[in-house]
Amino acid sequence: MTTPVRRQYLHFKARHPDAILFFRLGDFYETFDEDAELVSRELGITLTSKPMGAGLRVPLAGVPVRNVDHHLARLIERGHRVAICEQLEDPRASRKLVRRGVVRVVSPGTALEPTLLEAGEPSACAAVHVERERRRLRIGLASADVTTGRFQVCELIQTAADSDPSELWELLRDQLQRFGVRELLVSDGFGSDESGDPAPPPDLGIEPHPRPARDFRRDRAEAALQSQYSAPAAAFGLDERPATLSAVGALLAYLNDALPQLEDELESQYSSFRHLEAPQLVIPEARLQWDAATERALALVDTGPGAGSPGMPRTLFDVLDRCASVLGRRWLRAALLSPLLDQARIERRLDRIEALLRRQPLRRSLAAELRDIPDLERLLGRAATGIASPADLAALARGLIAAGELTSQIERAVDQAGEDVLVSLVEPMRRVPESARLLAQTLVERPPAEYGQGVIRAGIDAAVDRAAARIDAANERLAKLESQLRGESGINNLKVGYHRTFGHYIELRRGQARLAPEGWERRQSLRDRERYSEPRLREIAEELTAAQIALAEAERECVEQLRVALVGDSGIILRSAGAIARLDAACALADLAADHAWTRPQIEVSGELEIAAGRHPVVEAAAAQGAFVPNDLQLSDDGLHAPQLLLVTGPNMAGKSTYLRQAALIVILAQMGAYVPAESARIGLVDRIFARVGAHDDLAAGRSTFLVEMLETARLLHGATDRSLILLDEIGRGTSTWDGLAIAQAVAEELASESSRPRRGPRTLFATHFHELTALAGAMPRIANAAVEVEEDEQGKIQFLHSIRPGAADRSYGVQVAAQAGIPAGVVARAAELLRELESGDRNARAGKRSRRSLSGRRSAATPQLMLMPPPTHPVLQDLAELDIDGMTPLEAISALYALRDQAQRELRTIAPDVAAGGGS
Ligand code: ADP
Ligand code: MG
Repeated sequence: MTTPVRRQYLHFKARHPDAILFFRLGDFYETFDEDAELVSRELGITLTSKPMGAGLRVPLAGVPVRNVDHHLARLIERGHRVAICEQLEDPRASRKLVRRGVVRVVSPGTALEPTLLEAGEPSACAAVHVERERRRLRIGLASADVTTGRFQVCELIQTAADSDPSELWELLRDQLQRFGVRELLVSDGFGSDESGDPAPPPDLGIEPHPRPARDFRRDRAEAALQSQYSAPAAAFGLDERPATLSAVGALLAYLNDALPQLEDELESQYSSFRHLEAPQLVIPEARLQWDAATERALALVDTGPGAGSPGMPRTLFDVLDRCASVLGRRWLRAALLSPLLDQARIERRLDRIEALLRRQPLRRSLAAELRDIPDLERLLGRAATGIASPADLAALARGLIAAGELTSQIERAVDQAGEDVLVSLVEPMRRVPESARLLAQTLVERPPAEYGQGVIRAGIDAAVDRAAARIDAANERLAKLESQLRGESGINNLKVGYHRTFGHYIELRRGQARLAPEGWERRQSLRDRERYSEPRLREIAEELTAAQIALAEAERECVEQLRVALVGDSGIILRSAGAIARLDAACALADLAADHAWTRPQIEVSGELEIAAGRHPVVEAAAAQGAFVPNDLQLSDDGLHAPQLLLVTGPNMAGKSTYLRQAALIVILAQMGAYVPAESARIGLVDRIFARVGAHDDLAAGRSTFLVEMLETARLLHGATDRSLILLDEIGRGTSTWDGLAIAQAVAEELASESSRPRRGPRTLFATHFHELTALAGAMPRIANAAVEVEEDEQGKIQFLHSIRPGAADRSYGVQVAAQAGIPAGVVARAAELLRELESGDRNARAGKRSRRSLSGRRSAATPQLMLMPPPTHPVLQDLAELDIDGMTPLEAISALYALRDQAQRELRTIAPDVAAGGGS
């Protein structure tokens, strides 16, 4: 025979087989059987056992309710899901088996506990559905952030039946990252070849969680939308996007399972994800796009742990984030990762900053008040799902009221100048929901964490007041009883007290025990004291417990009604939170602009990019005051009055990479609607940014450095449009010099070639250590050279000036840098000597004299003749451009590369026979 509790446990466990069941027993969540073994292993807590029936002992491991969040966080982080089974009634009120129910299932995408979340980052749960329509692949993606209520969907479609599907998967991966997806649901058959779909990429950045295929059925999706929003799929534009509709359905089904409806209506009146806004259709092409490699290269936001000295900004977001509220911080981060293409919207954001810049005192006081506004979105999420404490609800209500008060402050400040961008921005905050006001009036200033301890002000709710009066009366009787007992027994120092486990007692000193009257019953013996009970005391204690339970119930019921009303206003609350976020972010950006002399960019629809005295915000912030050297930049897609492709040369550490990145950062800032670190900037809207940094490692993914570089370069050559901005930083480094040079040149030629890109091409910055490439500027009209200036002092020591000037660098200063880096003097002297030899050898070679050079011929492979070949017909270029790199295995890629290299060598042999001999290996 098993115990009733055991049977109850097994009942719930059977309903949640793929989750760990946290079973509430008093002050603990207990786990049993395999769950207990797992939990004890994962959390490092002791595994014990518990008798649960005749001859039955089951493994047991429990965590205290008090710090359950911490343990949940560990389990969720390790990829587990946890079903939480609560006591649905006060165990004190029930003599039978306590009623229990699973109130929610916690997983990475449905977690609501602050310890499980990054305050400043989104936390979404997403579903993906793949379909094939007329031989083209469609990927539907639905992503909901239950912590904030944001619900975004998009559909990715293969451009042509024969185009490379891996590009589509790459797009999906980027999108998942932008939505902040922490849990990904896919259909059972996902990735299997049965459906005939091409295999998804090995790495979507997240381990998918399979769900039954029926969850993805469209009729179910329709029904789910009806029940959540009382509207058909067509109302959200989903009737034309069947793959997305399926994903939405599966996502809603999963979320509903995560908050199972309890049998008892009262408890679950409104615990749901009702606060989810209607699904918003996101069109990736409507935003400035980039891929993961670019994001890494530009260090926009932190992705994962990394070194870095504390206090030093490492990412652009570190520099930008001067937000006073979490709402602002999260919005700003999202805005940074999703800059706009719509000029009007960009200008609107810029207008707000400008309006705030003009009003420093207003900005100051706003910042102070915004600091007190809590995370309204996540509090609403907790309220909607029923896990908000009375303190959470009070914070939410007070935050909304404070937001309402902010609007009048802004209206007053703005009135005098007749400005209205700010007034219209904060408009949604003005309307404080009635439910919030009621909550604030109802709850005490600082509500305790639990019901039954005075959550509600006196005079608001009759049932609450009645229960409170009962408690007072009982306490009074208790006090009276104490003096009565003293009188009766003649023991003047006896005390009536209370213990959590043993309840109320009468306490005597040990030595007084013999004085205890007849009717007293001994309950507990301590070292020097004895505790008793007595009929009148028992009667009052029972009345007190009953009154306390009544109070807890009355309070809960009263708050519950208000909570339901508040969640009903979630639309207003989310709009208000959105306005606060934008206001806070605008204040932060205005503040930054004021402190560091950032300026408003001029946005236009054109192929121009013109930056005067631009700076790299992160490098500048890390440098000593005033040490950063600003630089100008001019690019133009037609190459007429400014180069389309600028080749930047200069020694190591001169500032090439910094110069490239600052251009991209300024464009991103401008298009997210922020001021920029420059004296002035004219930004022709950019649709995509590609940043490629040569020779960086991706060994973890099992791919060679060079192959990765080439894969990325291939994507760039396919994906760049005339409106794109490209940064190529030392590409071609991961292979032998000749290969690298050949590829770098071929890529540069392709990007600026008039045959493959007539009239216009992507604006491109190309930093390279291959001096040889500078000759391209003479051969191709849209290419120009620039160099980072260095100065050599008397001792031959070089000074980095970090300023960019037109023209090619004269040489690479490698030997000087080596000396400054501490290479022993002897080695440096020898290197200088070799260099002289090589350079003269080089001249000899050019003069036609044969000189024997083997590998050392690398340094000055100066073959301007090579550059003067008519570029567009170069066979290496042709072959390179036609390579289908994404469709190759690493082995095929390597052999293709060898072939290219051999071909390049053959070419060179016909031009400069002695030089080519040294290129191989
Ligand atoms: P390169 O790519 O030419 O090797 P980097 O761009 O990596 O050089 O710059 C090397 C270092 O020089 C940077 O870390 C920074 O400290 C400094 N630096 C770069 N550009 C500037 C500048 N414009 N003003 C001041 N310091 C700079
Ligand atoms: Mg560099």
